[in-house]
Amino acid sequence: MFKKILIANRGEIACRVAATCKRLGIGSVAVFSDADADAKHVALCDEAVHIGGSAAADSYLRLERIVEAARATGAQAIHPGYGFLSENEAFAQACTAHGIEFIGPPVAAIAAMGSKAAAKALMQRAAVPLVPGYHGDDQSADLLQREADAIGYPVLLKASAGGGGKGMRVVEQSADFAAALASCKREAASSFGNDRVLIEKYLLRPRHVEVQVFADKAGNTVYLFDRDCSVQRRHQKVLEEAPAPGLSDAVRRQMGEAAVAAARAVNYVGAGTVEFIMTPEGQFYFMEMNTRLQVEHPVTEMVTGLDLVEWQLRVAAGEALPLLQHQLSVTGHAIEARIYAENPARGFLPSTGTLRHLRLPAAVEFKVGEGGRAAVRIDSGVRCGDTITPFYDPMIAKLIVHGADRAAALARLSSALGEFEIVGPSTNVEFLQRIAGSVPFMAADLDTGLIERNHEALFAPATASTRDALALACAAQLAREEADNTDRSPWSTLHHWRLNAGYRQVLSWRTAGHEAAPGADQATLTEVVFERDGGRDTLELDGTRHEFSWRRGSGADEFSVTVDQTRVAGRVFIDGEHFHVFCRGKALGFERETPLAHAAEEHGTGRLTAPMPGRVIAVLVAPGTKVDKGTPLLVMEAMKMEHTIEAPAAGVVAEILFAVGDQVSDGAQLLIMEAEG
Ligand code: ADP
Ligand code: ADP
Ligand code: MG
Repeated sequence: MFKKILIANRGEIACRVAATCKRLGIGSVAVFSDADADAKHVALCDEAVHIGGSAAADSYLRLERIVEAARATGAQAIHPGYGFLSENEAFAQACTAHGIEFIGPPVAAIAAMGSKAAAKALMQRAAVPLVPGYHGDDQSADLLQREADAIGYPVLLKASAGGGGKGMRVVEQSADFAAALASCKREAASSFGNDRVLIEKYLLRPRHVEVQVFADKAGNTVYLFDRDCSVQRRHQKVLEEAPAPGLSDAVRRQMGEAAVAAARAVNYVGAGTVEFIMTPEGQFYFMEMNTRLQVEHPVTEMVTGLDLVEWQLRVAAGEALPLLQHQLSVTGHAIEARIYAENPARGFLPSTGTLRHLRLPAAVEFKVGEGGRAAVRIDSGVRCGDTITPFYDPMIAKLIVHGADRAAALARLSSALGEFEIVGPSTNVEFLQRIAGSVPFMAADLDTGLIERNHEALFAPATASTRDALALACAAQLAREEADNTDRSPWSTLHHWRLNAGYRQVLSWRTAGHEAAPGADQATLTEVVFERDGGRDTLELDGTRHEFSWRRGSGADEFSVTVDQTRVAGRVFIDGEHFHVFCRGKALGFERETPLAHAAEEHGTGRLTAPMPGRVIAVLVAPGTKVDKGTPLLVMEAMKMEHTIEAPAAGVVAEILFAVGDQVSDGAQLLIMEAEG
């Protein structure tokens, strides 16, 4: 076994690999960029080497620099994680050339599977079933059009060198083919430097079912069963589970054996995933092979009780596979949810910013490799106070749950999702909760269109009662004022309305749209009236007066409120005038409306600030332009996604503070608007 390895990655996967190194007594070397100088993965490794600037191209993609770091620290092997250089032949080659073991498959296997078209040709020869389609060398537009017509619409165009869903285009009819081809080629060329395409029959309501394979250098190859990753947005996985629900033993074995055949066809070594697309009738076809550890590998670890990183290390060190096929089995069911800093209501636009408050669900500590099947496992690469930057994948954490069966796992998933408390970037937690609670997901009625088809329910504005959360926010505000009164200014009581002998105070709350619920982009204003009359406190909510009392809990941000006879406890995290309330498994955000902010909103001078750091790519208005609420003003781009800034209210554009091409930082004011007239 190795004495020391270098981990050529960052974030949760670097932390994940470091955990296994620690358990096995293997030294670990981290590499880091400028942005990651204080990152969690650096802290978890024994040594760390700075490899350059924040952009991936200046650090995590610099293969010579990383190989040099391994040589300088005496690391015997390099674990590439996923993404970055994990499927880069030149990197694997460079490792080998310097006598460093690449913890992954041989260069030839990476090369063979790196082109989806070439891989399909190989699979055809190995008798692995393929989706009807065209993956030939002739790339002339005429021929591709004829092939698409022959396959029959709809068809799917893919970049042969592609990944991450980039370049994929669904073509509904022959007349649209030429334009889609041109656009697929453009994106393929710019993302992968290679514009080769392939065509597949676009399957309707398919499932994504993949098989984990493992091979050692002696040629033993096994499958560690399947995962269903059908719940996707923009062709990217959101929820994954093992085993794939509803497969018969016969289909499970056939898929496993097909995956092993695929691996054998390229003399595979190490961990790999063979992705299949499956029709509603259960027919499955090879899609591609990912020649690395997958983001969703933990669900396989949970149901097999194995540590796949340990297997990778053993195999790379020349050991035989720890177990053979007949020794492998599945226990229970596991589900993974990817917690992202993103905004589902805005087309899953990545969100950035500092994690000002971060509480993860209580995890029964996952003991990798000790057969431990924790009920709840969290894999995360960030800590409270860390920043989600625009440079890398905006994943905050992976939540992985295990249960005796799918229903038990699902129950744990829902309750653990409810335990997340994240303040800072927007997140998809509430959205994941909605999927977990949706009828098709609960019934395991899975296919890749699940999110799209249930759009209405998944993106609907929050209907949950906000009463408890509002009462908690009021309690936190009253507590803050009380603290102000005693600690600082006695005059702050002036903003209470003194009425006869009692207080009357109006607390105005704006629901912080996207934070409150994925679909609730429209902010609404709620007024809550607090009254103290003869020692009796009441709160007027929804036009009804309730008995009300509140008190602080034991923790700093904890409060409990009693509304009429019902007591509710929760946590309120205050950030300026933003109140983030966490109670009963729900997160709700409110912005306290001060009279000043209210006036600005009414007169169309609402905040027109950048929602994330990025670049201005279009300015759609000029000074003097009269706009209505919702008029698009300016388009920004960040992390390859576009975001349109709209007028928050009617008004006139007074000044535009940035021009096309300018970089803007998060929260920077973009333009100045004035009230009309
Ligand atoms: P998985 O099935 O493991 O999620 P993906 O293909 O979605 O596989 O990608 C795995 C990780 O690699 C993701 O976190 C993603 O950010 C990263 N990734 C995918 N494609 C690319 C790419 N072209 N360049 C850099 N990173 C990528
Ligand atoms: P990537 O390299 O981006 O992961 P894949 O070829 O694995 O590309 O496809 C990504 C996703 O696109 C799949 O998980 C599936 O949801 C969808 N997809 C791929 N091929 C087809 C197809 N022929 N018909 C329908 N959906 C498909
Ligand atoms: Mg794929």
